[in-house]
Amino acid sequence: MEPGLAGRRALVTGAGKGIGRATVQALHAAGAQVVAVSRTRADLDSLARECPGIETVCVDLGNWEATERALGSVGPVDLLVNNAAVALLQPFLEVTKEAFDTSFDVNLRAVMQVSQIVARGLVARGAPGAIVNISSQASQRAIARHSIYCSTKGALDMLTKVMALELGPHKIRVNAVNPTVVSTPMGKANWSDPQKVKAVLDRIPLGRFAEVENVVDSVLFLLSDRSGMTTGATLPVDGGFLAT
Ligand code: NAP
Repeated sequence: MEPGLAGRRALVTGAGKGIGRATVQALHAAGAQVVAVSRTRADLDSLARECPGIETVCVDLGNWEATERALGSVGPVDLLVNNAAVALLQPFLEVTKEAFDTSFDVNLRAVMQVSQIVARGLVARGAPGAIVNISSQASQRAIARHSIYCSTKGALDMLTKVMALELGPHKIRVNAVNPTVVSTPMGKANWSDPQKVKAVLDRIPLGRFAEVENVVDSVLFLLSDRSGMTTGATLPVDGGFLAT
């Protein structure tokens, strides 16, 4: 069990599928009280059956007012995982305003909004906390048809650092995890082209994509007291992709 997680209250966004869902399961197993936030009610219901006792909140985080209504009075939260995101891939010359706005609303603005709600509560209580933002290797490398997604994640890395700067004095640590491709609904939807897969795999020294568990392990480490002196970091979970 990770020290510092049992009994603490953790909020995970994008909890219905993929990395977020696995993060909820791991936090639940570690003895944390979990608030699982996602967009599809059926996903949250099945997750609550797997992890008895978790709280669920169904909201579209791309909607500022709905998010305020759903989470504004969520109560004390010690640990936050900003995981929800969309990957809307378009060639740069065909990028639409809709895809741009939706992506930035969910991948960046919601991170700021939910973090504000959680961090304001921590500051008011004088309690320490930890926030982990799920970024991507795409924050630091250009990938064709990913202009919006790469931009949201690049901005998220920098938001992570500024949050770490301003929240550090309140004993709130803020870090990012930057995975390579992971086999989730998002990963499968966007990485089915063998040529595209090969181009990235050829640049990964460990020669494989990440497992969901690899990402979750790093998230739990950054939430826990084991990383008590780490803040403002962007931790690659990429088999060495960003080193090359
Ligand atoms: P996923 O399989 O698509 O799951 C994303 C979850 O977030 C879903 O439950 C989804 O709910 C929820 N979500 C999306 N938009 C939302 C919104 N507006 N409001 C509330 N919930 C919303 O994605 P994943 O692969 O697990 O990705 C998780 C994180 O890892 C993301 O930040 C992603 O950018 C990052 N990442 C993924 C990969 C990869 O290859 N998979 C690689 C690097 C980084 P619905 O399904 O109901 O919309």
